Amino acid sequence: MLILSGKPVFGGIAKGKLFYFQQDENEVTKRIIKDTEYELQRYEYAKKQAIAELDELYETALSKVGENEASIFIIHKMLIEDSAFRGSINDRIMVDHFCADYAVAQTARDLTQTFSDLGSTYIKERAADLKDVCDRLIRHIQNKDEKRITLTEKVILCADELYPSETMQIDLSMVLAIVTRYGSSNSHTAILARTLGIPAIIGIGAEKLSMLRDMEAIVDGYNGNVYIEPDEAALKRLDQLAENEAKKREMLKRFKGRKNVTLDGTEIEVFANIAGLNDLNYALENDAGGVGLFRSEFLYLGRTQMPEEDEQFYNYRQVLERMGGRKVIIRTMDAGADKNIKYFGLAKEENPALGVRSIRLCLLRPEMFKTQLRALLRASVYGNLAIMLPLITTADEIHRAKKLIEEAKDQLRAKGQAFAENIQVGIMVETPAAVIMSDEFAQESDFFSIGTNDLEQYIMAHDRQNLALESYYEGRDHEPLLRAMRYVCENAHRHGIPVGICGELGADLELTEEFLKMGIDEISVTASQVLPLRQRIRTIKLDERKQLFDPAALKA
Ligand code: PEP
Ligand code: MG
Repeated sequence: MLILSGKPVFGGIAKGKLFYFQQDENEVTKRIIKDTEYELQRYEYAKKQAIAELDELYETALSKVGENEASIFIIHKMLIEDSAFRGSINDRIMVDHFCADYAVAQTARDLTQTFSDLGSTYIKERAADLKDVCDRLIRHIQNKDEKRITLTEKVILCADELYPSETMQIDLSMVLAIVTRYGSSNSHTAILARTLGIPAIIGIGAEKLSMLRDMEAIVDGYNGNVYIEPDEAALKRLDQLAENEAKKREMLKRFKGRKNVTLDGTEIEVFANIAGLNDLNYALENDAGGVGLFRSEFLYLGRTQMPEEDEQFYNYRQVLERMGGRKVIIRTMDAGADKNIKYFGLAKEENPALGVRSIRLCLLRPEMFKTQLRALLRASVYGNLAIMLPLITTADEIHRAKKLIEEAKDQLRAKGQAFAENIQVGIMVETPAAVIMSDEFAQESDFFSIGTNDLEQYIMAHDRQNLALESYYEGRDHEPLLRAMRYVCENAHRHGIPVGICGELGADLELTEEFLKMGIDEISVTASQVLPLRQRIRTIKLDERKQLFDPAALKA
């Protein structure tokens, strides 16, 4: 038996086979070649294969989704055959003596730049197609298979690190546990595991992780150990632990349908964070009172093109309908930093967490933003929608976003499309600037939701993705963050708006009492944490003088 240790980020015991997810790299190195003819042949061969693949994709799409959707593969073929495109690759190989994959990558870079400099949205959208086509060509030049993972049995998913776009390629219902070599407790791997309610261990560090594929293992998400080929004693102990855990989960079910109310009668909203329709099932299963954060950027991830207005509308509408009148806070696209979307073609940044991300990106691309806003507005008639703006740092951002919302409304009015008139627009408080300006911002917003993941990283100057800083999170001193949060609550309540928490800290049951005492009105957590939080709230007494409920009755 081999034992690997890491940091547990979600509890639970899972037994199964290890499946190692190999990152899709598509790394292109510049090589100067002598035999240009041979290089050109390599390119021509890859092109033929890419075209054959596109023909196949077209046929499959035609039978599955129809002519309209399938036509994208014809466009991709046309791009490959385009004379300017071909000419550029030819020149890069014959004149510059670049190797074939680098010639394609350079052509992609130059043409994407030309496309983005042109005003037309249509042409800009073609830049994403160009990127897709070039990735396909490079993959063939490098003789790599397309990454499509089909899991036929339930597995323990292992990877060096998991990014949101990668997890989109995996059928998550087949994942028993997650083990990564890197990662951090606020990373999206951790959030994903909490959403799915499966054990997760990060920072396992072992270089040999990839060599352990297909071995039997047990993941102990409580102590952070992975037991490879476990012996009898470990099996027995962990089976017992798993049994106890199942009993606890069963006990928590008793809290379904109950109120989130303190001993002295204060009611708190407990909502769920979701990243898409799949997570909604977990939110409903765990009896969440609403959705406190729908990370809408997940609709943009794991694909090669922007989701169109109708597709977004369909997703938002489903969430709103299925929540049946309960509040649904949809955050506008929060891409960038760790949620890198390749087809946006963003320039590489020294500090992506401080870069062109989130609301900044949306305001730089108003047409893209308005597509999302129209989809949201159209969906608003199907439920109780609130729109939330991420990473706000200035009042000007709020004003400009609101102006775009009004423009989107005008566009819908002109087309006779319906939307709810009184949609709330709130902001995430996740930057020190938003905390400091919360008095002013409260007058511009219908609600606040504190994003503790980012707020903590910016206040403490701890990169949330950096495993080397993980020790700062052990028994960490939350006081700077808590003071900021208290200040935000005071300012919000002075102007009569509610404050929620939608960052991971909202699920820290040791802080629940502190949060309620500072006046937090709503806490939104990953679905699996809704019932434990409800149970915790029901044990808290905020006002020493008041005791409305019998604790024993509330706990029962
Ligand atoms: C946060 O920053 O706390 C948050 C909820 O947003 P995300 O984790 O998606 O950045
Ligand atoms: Mg955030």
